[in-house]
Amino acid sequence: MRGQPRVLYNTADIEIWPQGLLRARGNHDARTLARARHVLRRKRDGRYLAADLAGGVLPLVERLPREPGIADALDLLDALHAAPPADARDFVREPGELPLNRLHERLEDLGLDADGYAARTGLDLVPEPARLALAGFDRYRRPLWLVEPAARAWDHLRRAAAADGIVLEAISGYRSHDYQLGIFRRKLDRGQSVGEILAVNAAPGFSEHHSGLALDLSTPGEPPAEESFEATAAFAWLQARAPALGFHMSYPRDNPHGIVYEPWHWRFDTCSKE
Ligand SMILES: [Zn+2]
Repeated sequence: MRGQPRVLYNTADIEIWPQGLLRARGNHDARTLARARHVLRRKRDGRYLAADLAGGVLPLVERLPREPGIADALDLLDALHAAPPADARDFVREPGELPLNRLHERLEDLGLDADGYAARTGLDLVPEPARLALAGFDRYRRPLWLVEPAARAWDHLRRAAAADGIVLEAISGYRSHDYQLGIFRRKLDRGQSVGEILAVNAAPGFSEHHSGLALDLSTPGEPPAEESFEATAAFAWLQARAPALGFHMSYPRDNPHGIVYEPWHWRFDTCSKE
């Protein structure tokens, strides 16, 4: 039987994870997570905040009521429980995006001028989707999240490649603003300058990975995110076949955004039919 797609519900500060995907960080965690229908997870640091059990919500941190964004997350959880399955399905399909909450201020805190960066690169801020579908697992056995059309398209792409003897592996799909901000902050803490970091990473908020439409791909035996990927049979296959299946390379050589050549980074284009 083909089950309902497993869905990650996203709010500004907190993610609502479906059952069975988060790793326990101890015996107590394991027992709780095994019984939880959902787990509320803080986006900033991945901390598990609460478990949604049949008997009610079990806090996993002290002072849960004071957690930023908790009211929104609990409201959404209530809505999920209240919606009959058919409505819940429609709810899942709705292509909602979250507002760009405080992103400008948070970038400014890091010494990053969002408007200047946008003008310089021609990139736009990318909102996060309100819902993501489980698109399988990445090379490291982590859940891979994409928006639902991209998740379906990735499944087609992977199967089409496999039929031609090519193994495609996902390295990374959806990434939150918080996740990208965390990378940026850690690099600053290690003494790198804003300019040095931006030479390698898109500014937080501007990465196509926030959209749930982009994937970093690789193939067994190949290191992640290296230019050497362009010499693989997998890359040759992607160049020949991926566009017809809706995927395009976002950052070819000498792209107008000034982003380094990324032969591994492919984006599903919802409007494309070639
Ligand atoms: Zn990428």
